[in-house]
Amino acid sequence: MKTTNDTTTAGHGGGDVRLTGIGKTYGSFTAVHPLDLTVPQGSFFALLGASGCGKTTTLRMIAGLEEPTSGAVHLGDQDVTALPPYKRPVNTVFQSYALFPHLDIFENVAFGLRRRGIKSVKKQVEEMLELVQLGEQARKKPHQLSGGQQQRVAVARALINHPKVLLLDEPLGALDLKLRRQMQLELKRIQTEVGITFVHVTHDQEEAMTMADTVAVMNAGRVEQLGSPADLYENPRTTFVANFLGTSNFIEAEVDSASGGELVLKAGGGKLVLPGARNSAPTTTGGKVLVGVRPEKISLTHADDAGEIPEGRNRITGRITGAGFIGVSTQFVVDSPVCSDFEVYVQNIDRDARLVPGAEVVLHWNPAHTFGLDAAQSLLAGTVGSAGVETVAEEVG
Ligand code: ATP
Repeated sequence: MKTTNDTTTAGHGGGDVRLTGIGKTYGSFTAVHPLDLTVPQGSFFALLGASGCGKTTTLRMIAGLEEPTSGAVHLGDQDVTALPPYKRPVNTVFQSYALFPHLDIFENVAFGLRRRGIKSVKKQVEEMLELVQLGEQARKKPHQLSGGQQQRVAVARALINHPKVLLLDEPLGALDLKLRRQMQLELKRIQTEVGITFVHVTHDQEEAMTMADTVAVMNAGRVEQLGSPADLYENPRTTFVANFLGTSNFIEAEVDSASGGELVLKAGGGKLVLPGARNSAPTTTGGKVLVGVRPEKISLTHADDAGEIPEGRNRITGRITGAGFIGVSTQFVVDSPVCSDFEVYVQNIDRDARLVPGAEVVLHWNPAHTFGLDAAQSLLAGTVGSAGVETVAEEVG
């Protein structure tokens, strides 16, 4: 994935999607602020964000289903901005599978080929059904299949057109949680096997992180941060990203000193250490930093055992106010002088029976697991890369 200022080195093969200054307004309302984004050929790219953030509008502009107010869409070297959807080398899979109910699965998949006047479709259709593991179901009608199977038919029906980019608009939204998880892995396998560019729109952070190589987190019509799932999770640059992908605890702190690649911060009368490389806030003495730490990185020790905590760890004292046992872990809420509802997830290996609401505790963690945000600037506007896509030109149903 390339950022706005780094589009020139993007490969311009057939499956790159490049958006330059693409934006959309409805009257005085801006649904998508002008953005530059490159999705390299062959990648699995996710547009992630809450309802109304502009992700579907962005996808539809790539598909040609929505006319941009500004900017251009390139697929590979081709400027497709003025092309209607059916002339773009893209196919779209929607949440509603839009299969033909009166046709069997074989004929649903064969539809795109037949429409182009191709007579001998058997081999290609069988290959596609094999790819989505529905070879046995070829002669069934859509209503005889499960939701997940129907969605796989929709994917096969799109892929048989050999799009350069496959666009997926909340394709798993109608499935129950267990099926969604199965289908996430299935879609990832299919994408790896066919090797074409997938652009996937979802509001589900787990789904985006499971499948995508690169995730663009959108907020209020802007791409707020773009990166690999691990990078976004470990190094969020805004509070929005830090909270949209998982949970984060925040402590307001002030720079005390900086040396040897580390910052020492003052927070609530104590000191915390932050690696300089994980800080995006100013480092001048007195500068305000929002210190972040994920709940699973923190250990909880009863105050009576505080002496056993190794040197060199960040530590905060507090009192447990809530404890929820969820099997794999216990989720504690701790009231501390620097944060009233600190969340801590402790794996249920050797449970300390004293860790119950009311207990005085010390929270401690490896300073390497701390990240720092600019307290004054939590929104990072307009950071984008580029991409290549193919949408399903035929919208059936
Ligand atoms: P969802 O997940 O709910 O579909 P989204 O992030 O995909 O949300 P979009 O569908 O892209 O959001 O819509 C972005 C914003 O643009 C929303 O506030 C929406 O109300 C607005 N919008 C979308 N289409 C239109 C339209 N035709 N006219 C006016 N406003 C629109």
